[in-house]
Amino acid sequence: MAELIMENVQKHFDGAPALAGIDAQISDGEFVALLGPSGCGKTTLLRLLAGFEQPSEGRLHIGDQQVACARSNLFVPPEERNIGIVFQSYALWPHMSVKRNIAYPLEVRRMPKQERDKKVEEALALTGLGPYANRSPAALSGGQRQRVALARCLVTDPRAVLLDEPLANLDLALRATMQEAFAQFHQRTGATMVYVTHDQTEAMAMADRVAVMEKGKIRQFASPEQLYNEPDNSFVADFVGEGAVVPARAIGTRTHDQIEMQFLGHRFTARAKIDAPTHVCIRPEHLRFDDDAPLRAKVKTTTYLGGKFRVKLETLCGQMLVALSPHRLQNDMAIGLDIVSPWAFADGEVSHG
Ligand code: ATP
Repeated sequence: MAELIMENVQKHFDGAPALAGIDAQISDGEFVALLGPSGCGKTTLLRLLAGFEQPSEGRLHIGDQQVACARSNLFVPPEERNIGIVFQSYALWPHMSVKRNIAYPLEVRRMPKQERDKKVEEALALTGLGPYANRSPAALSGGQRQRVALARCLVTDPRAVLLDEPLANLDLALRATMQEAFAQFHQRTGATMVYVTHDQTEAMAMADRVAVMEKGKIRQFASPEQLYNEPDNSFVADFVGEGAVVPARAIGTRTHDQIEMQFLGHRFTARAKIDAPTHVCIRPEHLRFDDDAPLRAKVKTTTYLGGKFRVKLETLCGQMLVALSPHRLQNDMAIGLDIVSPWAFADGEVSHG
C-alpha cells in the first residue's frame, strides 16, 4: 500500500472550478473519508486519484511515483496506477460465479492458476465470502455483492482502495453491518482507503481522518473526534454533529487553551487554541439546565432519543439551541441555561491535512 499526496490540485470543467486547490496527504494504511454536500467535489477528487480525470493544475503522487502533473503534462493512466476501485453499482459479471468474478482481474493479467487460486482464497477469507464462492452474483444480497467487489479489487494488491459511496444502494440496517465489514477489512489488510460519502455518520464511524469539503476545498482534515470537538470554522461546526454556531466576543486573554467569551450578554469560559475567536460552537452537551441562570430560553420541541430527550430551545433573541434532557419538557416552558466549555474559533480559517 502507499501514501497519497495531493499538491494544489485543481480541476475546472468548462472554466468552472470543481476543485479549487486541494493540498492533502493521506498516509500509508490510513482510512480517510471525503465528506461534504452534493457537488462539493468529492467524486472529482476520487476520479483524479484513480486517473479517470486529469488535474487542470497541481500534482498527484502515489507512493514515490508522481502520477499527474498539470504543468509538465505528466499523466499516468488508471491501468498503470494499480489502484482498486469500488463503486456503488457493484459492476460484477452476472454470468460468472463469485470466485470467478474475483479471479477475473488476475486472469486478465495472465497470472498462473496456482498463484491465482491462492490469491482468490485469501480474498474470499478476508471478506468472509468463503461459503458463497460458487454462487452467482444474482443469488447474493446487496451487502454480499459489495464484498465481492471489495475482494475483486483486493486480489490485485492495489496501492490504495478508492470507494465511491459504496453503501448508497443499501438499506439502513445493512449499511451499519457493512460499515463494520469495511472497518474490519481495513484492520485486516492495512489498506490505504479513501471513502467518498455525504453521510457524516458513516464517515465518522469508519475513518481515521475525515476531509470535510465545501465548494471544491477541504475546510478541515482531522480525526472524527477533532472535527466534532474542535471545528475550525462555521461550515464544519454546522455540517458535523449537532448544535449551534453563534457569534461571540472574546473578553480577556487566553490562558491554558481557555478564554472568557460573551454571547447575548452572558459570560462563560470557552475552549480555544487562538487568541481572538469570533464564534462558538455550542453542542448539546455544553448546555446545562439551571433555573437561576440569566440566559433564558423557551422549549420549542422535545424528541425522545431512547434514554434521553433532545430539546430544541429558542433564546429570547431568537437564537436556536439544542440541549439534552433526562426528562420530557413541556413546549413553551421557560428555562435557564448555563453554557459550559463550548469550542471557540475564528471563522473563515481554512486548514489542510
Ligand atoms: P455528489 O455527492 O452529488 O456526488 P460530489 O461532491 O461528488 O457530489 P462532484 O461530482 O465531484 O461532486 O462534482 C463537483 C462539481 O463539478 C459539480 O458542480 C459538478 O456538477 C461538476 N462536474 C463534475 N463532473 C463534471 C463533468 N464531467 N463535466 C462538467 N461538470 C462536472
